[in-house]
Amino acid sequence: MFSISRKLRRENRTVGFVPTMGALHEGHFSLIKEARQQSDVVIASIFVNPTQFNDKSDLEKYPRDLTADAARLAEYAVDYVFAPEQTEIYPAGFLTYVYVENLSEVFEGASRPGHFRGVATVVTILLNTIRPDLAFFGEKDAQQVAIVKRLVSDLGFETEIVVLPTVREESGLAMSSRNELLSPEEREKAAVLFEALKEAKIAFKNGERNALELTQIVQKVIQNEPLATIDYITVVDAETLQPLDRIGDSEALIALAARVGQVRLIDNIVLDQKQ
Ligand code: AMP
Repeated sequence: MFSISRKLRRENRTVGFVPTMGALHEGHFSLIKEARQQSDVVIASIFVNPTQFNDKSDLEKYPRDLTADAARLAEYAVDYVFAPEQTEIYPAGFLTYVYVENLSEVFEGASRPGHFRGVATVVTILLNTIRPDLAFFGEKDAQQVAIVKRLVSDLGFETEIVVLPTVREESGLAMSSRNELLSPEEREKAAVLFEALKEAKIAFKNGERNALELTQIVQKVIQNEPLATIDYITVVDAETLQPLDRIGDSEALIALAARVGQVRLIDNIVLDQKQ
């Protein structure tokens, strides 16, 4: 990968990079399609990153099908698939981790200790290896986006981070490889998460700016669904992830995590006065 990316730089070709953990779905393909539009060469990585899993069984359960994923990537005219072995990314004696302070401990970081340290570390290794002009990330993982943007700015990477909207199933449920773990009934009922976020967005559009009121709207809708258990609902500044009392001029998010049956799902919606 080092020698390919060095060659691409020498040839002055723009490189678009899409990092993934595989088990590809339409959410990933939307990133790939945009990368194809915006760059000469598209590189996708498939790497189930062990350092971002705090739960060993979650790591073991994570779906893997490199052959099927590679075939789909070829359909989308991806030029290179980087699918390293664990020991290529984390060779014996590995000791260096990247940690983005403050943004990493809250929300997803609170439920999954060490998760964002693993994410920041692997993103740093991948960006250093590939040195892409553009890297594409999904808004669905809003906290990850905030952390990656901070990291790229703080550590002086030249890569531009491109963020794309969440792709949803017909029901509104955000696409995720975890959706496969839901029973058909749970999958249907999981649509309540986006319904709740949409209700709050309507209230926002009608002028509601109070974070507590907006949170309560989301909470009420989800509580009506017996299969869903709320982990957190929060209204935050999209960049700093600081909780807000009132939404002002800068972009805000309502972000949530909830369990549907045994499966923990996350979702969010952007609140922006300019939208
Ligand atoms: P993952 O394979 O889950 O690590 O995700 C790889 C990339 O795809 C990340 O940037 C995710 O935010 C993005 N992604 C995952 N699900 C979606 C979705 N439903 N819509 C848009 N992007 C997504």
